[in-house]
Amino acid sequence: MRLEGKSALITGASQGIGRATALAFARAGANVAINHYPDAEDAHRRNAEAVAQEVKNLGRQALVIGADVAQEEPSAAMVAQAIEEFGCLDILVNNAGILRDATLRNLTRQQWDEVLDVNLGSMFNCAKPAAIHMREREAGSIVNIASVIGLTGNFGQTNYAAAKAGAIGFTKSLAREMARYGVRVNAVAPGFMDTDMTRTIDPEIKENIRKQIPLGHFGTAEDIADAILFLVSDEARYITGEVLSVNGGWYM
Ligand code: NAP
Repeated sequence: MRLEGKSALITGASQGIGRATALAFARAGANVAINHYPDAEDAHRRNAEAVAQEVKNLGRQALVIGADVAQEEPSAAMVAQAIEEFGCLDILVNNAGILRDATLRNLTRQQWDEVLDVNLGSMFNCAKPAAIHMREREAGSIVNIASVIGLTGNFGQTNYAAAKAGAIGFTKSLAREMARYGVRVNAVAPGFMDTDMTRTIDPEIKENIRKQIPLGHFGTAEDIADAILFLVSDEARYITGEVLSVNGGWYM
């Protein structure tokens, strides 16, 4: 699968699945804009710059953009900057995501809003300006990162499950709107992956989950990156509005 001459923007790409996707795209020939959360200490920026250096080492252009994707204006400015610097935007991956787990009884309105704003609001904030640009060019591909939890629900994750189920509905609706312009919109629903997001799960609970995965182990960030690479590539040219489950068989 090749992405020669293509330019991509990946949200939350300073680590985990976003980072692996940036590197998979660069290996396939794409220039990549790497978004990170603009923290005061610049720790996230340093991580994003390290990813950018890895992209450059692969012979591609890299752009680091700090922007809180939960906010509309910085997200729109980020998309505009990527278009300006690369000349156009062929691919958007809405990957940024957070957890604020608690049973509904204990969940605060703030935790609800944070998860909805980052995991779902970001899709509106980034996909809207990107889709307008792609519509004008009559080309482009958007991949939204959902979750198996958006399909199954999970104890203590009403906020996260609602956001990820919302991401699936958003993907299918936008796919219908954009198909006539030659723009494809798909989602990837990862299962349990070995990234920072799952490293805090209690080891005993983790082992119980692992036993329920038919393929016998947690996935890697690269497993998801390869699925995203497929969906944005020409090999997936007849696929739109699809939710690709990558979960080792945990949910079929
Ligand atoms: P991760 O390592 O925690 O990465 C999440 C990324 O999101 C980080 O790079 C973070 O950037 C970024 N981010 C968070 N809030 C942001 C904001 N407001 N603005 C910009 N960036 C923000 O987790 P991951 O496992 O790679 O997760 C990537 C995606 O996969 C998420 O959408 C997650 O829900 C989904 N997913 C993961 C799993 C799993 O098992 N790991 C399963 C299903 C779905 P900074 O580092 O700069 O803060």
